Amino acid sequence: MEITQKLTSEEAIKLEEKHGAHNYYPLPVVLSKGEGVYVWDVEGKKYFDFLSAYSAVNQGHCHPKIVGTLKEQAETLTLTSRAFFNDILGPYEKYITEYFGFDKVLPMNTGAEGVETAIKICRKYAYEKRGIPENQAKIIVCDGNFHGRTTTVISFSNDEDARNSFGPYTPGFLNIPYNDIEALEVALEDENVAGFLVEPIQGEAGVVVPDKNYLAEAAALCKKKGALFIADEIQTGIARTGGLLRVCGDCSCEHKCERQEATYTRPDILILGKALSGGAYPVSAVLADDEVMNVIKPGQHGSTFGGNPLGCKVAMAALEVVNDEKLIQNARRLGEIFRERMNKFIETTDTITLVRGRGLLNAIVINDTPDSSTAWDICVALKENGLLAKPTHGNIIRFAPPLVMTEEQLHECCDIIESTIRDFK
Ligand SMILES: *Cc1c(COP(=O)(O)O)cnc(C)c1O
Repeated sequence: MEITQKLTSEEAIKLEEKHGAHNYYPLPVVLSKGEGVYVWDVEGKKYFDFLSAYSAVNQGHCHPKIVGTLKEQAETLTLTSRAFFNDILGPYEKYITEYFGFDKVLPMNTGAEGVETAIKICRKYAYEKRGIPENQAKIIVCDGNFHGRTTTVISFSNDEDARNSFGPYTPGFLNIPYNDIEALEVALEDENVAGFLVEPIQGEAGVVVPDKNYLAEAAALCKKKGALFIADEIQTGIARTGGLLRVCGDCSCEHKCERQEATYTRPDILILGKALSGGAYPVSAVLADDEVMNVIKPGQHGSTFGGNPLGCKVAMAALEVVNDEKLIQNARRLGEIFRERMNKFIETTDTITLVRGRGLLNAIVINDTPDSSTAWDICVALKENGLLAKPTHGNIIRFAPPLVMTEEQLHECCDIIESTIRDFK
């Protein structure tokens, strides 16, 4: 296939500027091709992708197995709606529930829809199974959360940009500090608490990793009170943090969790998205056991595209790639190498103060105020040197390359990061 270079970067940026809503502030690079850990701009310059579309492309860009599956299914059957059965949804539901160890799945498309779905299931379970009075259910959420962009989800965000002027807000959420088990214990004393919705690592907040036992203790407290523990693993799940899921904690099961590890924390509701399709197609999923999922009856929730054969086939291929290429183990091993190198580098520079993360979801904290442009300027310099990353929350840069990266490539990337920061003025 011939690659026709129709637009220059400048022209492409101008078109977006003029005809698109200004709801993003992208780094000034226009990409037109991707393969594995690499992307190319329209001028043909090659970059390491260190964002992976916010961890949607864990399996690498245009993975041949995923793209091949997509092509094949696209030529066979793409969408039936759920008005009829299709021959891929059932096998997919069996596959994904066995893969993650839950009785049932509810298929959706985007992450935010997955979160909305989990909230609805949690509330319905509270009213029908736990006797919480109608319309009184509360869901505990954490400060600094990011769960998507719908009206309900931004109602409990602390990000003023995400929230301001979009009210009136959906009631029924209690905000507590993240990684504060006492605050959770106090909040759970409210008899109308239906659940606790949490990111096992706060991604958008800047890769905030909670204390070692936080998730396990939180899950145990929820269980004691009958509240549902809802894990939003849209960004952390699917091998990114060196486990199949982040709630798996730091247990050392090699393949995927067999639910035997003492440290394994099992959510009552699990939300997945992003890498569930390897970035090829929007696919999200909510998983729970029968006891919880069966509160949803026909007509009570749905989506025209949710569970479509194309998305289901793509998701199965994307999950197979995780196993085939041992992405969990690779993320864990390379993550350790990355943090070790960055920790050594920090000692030689005043520009960064901290590196943190798990697996290949990491961030460096820049030694400047959150409203400074230093992190942005470093990302522009990294771009010039062939590596793409994006600041999050002002002075933090997230580093999340595709998990198909080799050790050699990772060292090359660390070289770029170190020399860019060393030369930065
Ligand atoms: C990206 C993300 C979402 C939202 O997913 P969309 O597909 O953008 O709607 C929700 N929660 C977390 C933790 C995320 O990282």
